[in-house]
Amino acid sequence: MKFIVHTYGCQMNVRDSEALEALMVAAGHEKASCEEEAQVVIINSCTVRQKAEEKAIGKAGNMIAAKKTTGMMGCAVKRLGADIFKRLPGIDFAVAPRSFGLIPKILSDGVFPRLELGDDLEPGSLSAHAAEGAFSAFVTVLLGCDNRCSYCIVPDVRGHEWSRPAREVLAEVKSLAAGGVKEVTLLGQSVLRYGFRNDPWKDGTGARTAFPRLLREISAVDGIERVRFTSSHPRGITEEMLAVWRDCPQVCRHVHLPVQSGSDRVLREMGRGYTRAEYLDAVGRLRAMDGGFAVTTDVIVGYPGETEADFEETRTLLDEAGIDNSFIFKYSPRPGTRSAALPDSVPKEEKERRNQTLLDDQERRGLERNSALVGTVREVLVEGPSKRNPARLSGRDGGGRIVVWDAPAENAPKPGTMAMIRITHAHAQILKGEKI
Ligand code: SAH
Ligand code: SF4
Repeated sequence: MKFIVHTYGCQMNVRDSEALEALMVAAGHEKASCEEEAQVVIINSCTVRQKAEEKAIGKAGNMIAAKKTTGMMGCAVKRLGADIFKRLPGIDFAVAPRSFGLIPKILSDGVFPRLELGDDLEPGSLSAHAAEGAFSAFVTVLLGCDNRCSYCIVPDVRGHEWSRPAREVLAEVKSLAAGGVKEVTLLGQSVLRYGFRNDPWKDGTGARTAFPRLLREISAVDGIERVRFTSSHPRGITEEMLAVWRDCPQVCRHVHLPVQSGSDRVLREMGRGYTRAEYLDAVGRLRAMDGGFAVTTDVIVGYPGETEADFEETRTLLDEAGIDNSFIFKYSPRPGTRSAALPDSVPKEEKERRNQTLLDDQERRGLERNSALVGTVREVLVEGPSKRNPARLSGRDGGGRIVVWDAPAENAPKPGTMAMIRITHAHAQILKGEKI
């Protein structure tokens, strides 16, 4: 059957959708080139904020109305459980985040409606990749989350933290590299906790060294030129990790280090496990090693009880930390989380204002930080023609910054190759340069 997968939410969902596509093709189905052509539509849902969940549900509703065989996977399914059939009468199947590997079988069984909420992975589902000429790939290394941040529903829907066996991860990276992949991004909710709950090396490798060791071994794989990972918790910026950045040029000098708030009071209420000073200290150690170390972050505005003074502390923290890029979220209470019991006290308009203020700050800070790079030479992994101007090529430097440059078609470098670009102009979100 012809199928299409629509994905909402994080990179982990993007990766699960890719793996599902590969499993579907292996089972004899064919990827549709557009929605109209598809007989089967699978929606990979997010529930981290209410809006995200509503988008996925709305899309599924439209697909049911369009008489497609409609299924939903991912976090919203786990949160809603059997209630999904009330929210979406007529949906054919729904599977929890760890059960997407069952979808080809669900389709061949053809018994609808069907609900799968299990916590067990289908063997082989995580490592499924399509054999296409990609040069960059996501690799899931850690499932679930055992942190209990007051606002977050992820632990309820993605289950307990579990580190994938290291040999399985390495085998996957080797096979990707053999197929031409140059850059891998390792995924986990709190990826620096790889090896904390179970020993993925199965040889007594301690928790503090499990992830550093994984990074070292992946860096040594033939053909792998760049290793990235996301998301990181400030507590994980250990001496062992700093040593990896010093020793392995393949490991990009970029961390996505969600801070959520700059107010110690709010951080304590969120149960984040660090203070403002500790966050700044972690960033300071990275920048002491390399002043150009890229640090990006997530922030929640309008957490219950967040005062103007708390918010100002967030603003100053982002400046003091010299955050290169930030994703700002308006607080959204999620049923069953600790903070959902608190009054959602910051009015909608005020959340909007704080959101916009941080976006404006980011524009200013992004421009300042990028301007400091003018005149430097960046090693860029070429991605392809720029979306805005096809006469230009676009790629990313090790810090994940977007770099564009004019590229006459004759001797333009190919996607997936490295190019050395001297930066000539800085914008808030983009660097422009010339190839040398
Ligand atoms: N595991 C990651 C975060 C995954 S969720 C981490 O802890 O680093 C992605 C982001 O969504 C979070 O960093 C947070 O900024 C935001 N988020 C999570 N729950 C939220 C909520 N209830 N309301 C608004 N934003 C939220
Ligand atoms: Fe959404 Fe979080 Fe689930 Fe990712 S893990 S899909 S961001 S709820």
